[in-house]
Amino acid sequence: MFDTLTSSFTAAIKKIRFQDDEKALKKALEELKKNLLKADVHHKVVKELLFDVELDVKAAGIGKDQFLDAMQKRLYALLHVKGHQGFVFASKPPTVILMMGLQGSGKTTTTGKLAYYLKNKQKKVLVAAADLQRMAAVEQLKQVGASIGVDVYADENEKDPVKIAKAAMKKAEAGLYDVLLIDTAGRLAIDEELMKELKAVKEAIKPDEVFYVADSLTGQDSVRTAASFNEQIGIDGVILSKYDGDSKGGVALGIASQVQVPLRFIGNGEKMPDLEVFIPERIVNRLMGFGDIEGLAEKTANVIDEKKAKEISRKIKKGQFNFNDFIEQMESMKKMGSMKSLIGMIPGMGGMSDAIKNFDFENSSELKNIKAMVSSMTRKEREEPDLLNNSRKQRIAKGCGMDLMDVNRVLKQFKNASKMAKRFSGKKGMQDMQNMMSQMQGGKLGGLSR
Ligand code: GDP
Repeated sequence: MFDTLTSSFTAAIKKIRFQDDEKALKKALEELKKNLLKADVHHKVVKELLFDVELDVKAAGIGKDQFLDAMQKRLYALLHVKGHQGFVFASKPPTVILMMGLQGSGKTTTTGKLAYYLKNKQKKVLVAAADLQRMAAVEQLKQVGASIGVDVYADENEKDPVKIAKAAMKKAEAGLYDVLLIDTAGRLAIDEELMKELKAVKEAIKPDEVFYVADSLTGQDSVRTAASFNEQIGIDGVILSKYDGDSKGGVALGIASQVQVPLRFIGNGEKMPDLEVFIPERIVNRLMGFGDIEGLAEKTANVIDEKKAKEISRKIKKGQFNFNDFIEQMESMKKMGSMKSLIGMIPGMGGMSDAIKNFDFENSSELKNIKAMVSSMTRKEREEPDLLNNSRKQRIAKGCGMDLMDVNRVLKQFKNASKMAKRFSGKKGMQDMQNMMSQMQGGKLGGLSR
């Protein structure tokens, strides 16, 4: 996600030492400029950022700590504009949000993702299909709603989006919904008719907030259209979609400051869990390679039941972690979204190999094999893998269509994994884990830790 930007920052940081001179500072700033422009950050934004960082560092005295401080402070200032963060609930439910954006920007998908995010927060959500422009949008929203278990308001016979929005509002109030998300129409480009329609819906509904979905793949164009929507209709937040596919990523740095509307969420994949709250402090830490432990904890908390987590940790400590637990854990991991979206949140893991980042829980052939193998085991064998002698293994191999050698390999990996988990689970284990992490961090980032 933020890989390119993070590596530009870490590359610049490496150019400067603890006590250094103006020449080194110049080099670090040049490195930063080159990389930021390459990452498609708007040239004006780059210029201002570098000017401010230089000013701060010179005032504080040239050195690595001062450089890090200045960058952290200035990046934060860049990303932080007046307005709300994440999702904000109205004092009186339902909280009504209008979702806007150009056709193809990911508006309908993002509406679904936001509904899923709120549903995981135990909120009762209604989504309304008021995008009557794109033929398939209503059907798409219905399907998305069904897949995540969220109610959808649609009326195929109604051609007036204002009436749909009003009727959805009535339903949300009567049904005691916490949130109503209204998916509005988009066009391939901004035109007067679209603006008129959206204005009419906004006036009729008086939503609590308007979210604009900006496609990060369209780079600086997405900034311009967001600014135009803001001028003509007024928006309260931007959601940057398709950030997973955006190799440059610079648009995230510019959009808040250029449009003067806060970036609220980032979409980083096609699946429903692939939406992340945008909190400037945390993103700054990630950009600088420090990770985002809080974000990671939130993601995990959403999908892992606390009681279950305690039970698993007790089992791990006792070395009783079995195949049933393993499969269950893998299922929870799937709900957390792609590995790629998680890895940048772990301190020092930004530079992890692509093979790990691109690991796909749903389509991994390795995991499919393990699942097939486990389903050929008896209940007792799943609970006590030690029971597996040669004849049992042969039976399992036959049952799942794998070679005996492969079954043995998977069993050995599983045994090693539960040994490692046991080792890392006690108090001393935490220390081991931290040592391991800091070694990895040292190796990858070359003494970035302060
Ligand atoms: P709409 O016309 O704005 O409602 O666009 P859609 O919601 O139909 O999205 C257009 C395409 O973008 C679909 O193929 C989505 O799966 C895809 N999409 C939406 N958000 C993301 C995202 O965050 N990442 C990726 N990779 N694809 C996305």
